[in-house]
Amino acid sequence: MTAKTSPAYIGRFAPTPSGHLHFGSLVAALASYLDARSVGGQWLVRMEDLDPPREEPGAQAAILKALESYGFEWDGEMVRQSERHAAYAEVLDSLFNHGLAYACTCSRKQLEPYHGIYPGFCRNAGHDQQDAAIRLRVPELEYHFIDRVQGEFRQHLGRDVGDFVIRRRDGLYAYQLAVVLDDAWQGITDIVRGADLLDSTPRQLYLQELLGLKQPRYLHLPLITQPDGNKLGKSYRSPPLEADQATPLLLRALRALGQKPGSELACASPHELLAWGSTHWDADKIPRTLTLPEAQLQ
Ligand code: GLU
Ligand code: ZN
Repeated sequence: MTAKTSPAYIGRFAPTPSGHLHFGSLVAALASYLDARSVGGQWLVRMEDLDPPREEPGAQAAILKALESYGFEWDGEMVRQSERHAAYAEVLDSLFNHGLAYACTCSRKQLEPYHGIYPGFCRNAGHDQQDAAIRLRVPELEYHFIDRVQGEFRQHLGRDVGDFVIRRRDGLYAYQLAVVLDDAWQGITDIVRGADLLDSTPRQLYLQELLGLKQPRYLHLPLITQPDGNKLGKSYRSPPLEADQATPLLLRALRALGQKPGSELACASPHELLAWGSTHWDADKIPRTLTLPEAQLQ
């Protein structure tokens, strides 16, 4: 039997199939891949298809096809969150039965004045689960962690977040719950993802603590912003990753991550670029912030 890759590092890329992959997702896929492969670690792909109404038809297949044409090879079978509902339900029921989570019947309109920080109206109401959102009680505590790129990050859960939803009123499980359970279930040791998720991390740390799960290491990549400060993404027209652009876009993504592929790689294949990247990866070179000139997006 051939030796398995090191279980000391298991990374992942976890796309949401609400649209195609764009340049920002390529940067996240590439960084998580290289961070894993540079130490002989595993790299998993998990499809975060928790929200069927917001899923774009064909997006899952398009994402996998784009990953393949950009040279990415993942370990094992891809996991879909839509197949994990039983695991989420079990934990949710246990949190509810222990009084750590409760049912909330507040309407969107009622909560509007509170800017996303839940005021606790239903905390002691004892509603039953039916036709209600389920919220996790948060402690009046500050959580902090050291991110490999962003440095120390602190957030007071009670004051800055409030009791947060782990299952929506329509029955859909929330990202915060699913991501924590799946990362633990898949043995993820290192999370490399966009800095838009930095302020979700303390909620995830709290869930890990509550459930007795091991805390992974975190590396939050710089958000790629427009010169006007707007984030790249669906609101901005960022083009899908075209297969015939793999080499130039991988080179651009490597440079965005502070790596320095030489001009001899200008015509390299995606596989060659990923191999070069795995050998030369230096996470310390990743910049904390990144602004792309508009022209570079096209
Ligand atoms: N599915 C999330 C996204 O596409 C990423 C989740 C994560 O990496 O924790 O933004
Ligand atoms: Zn409520």
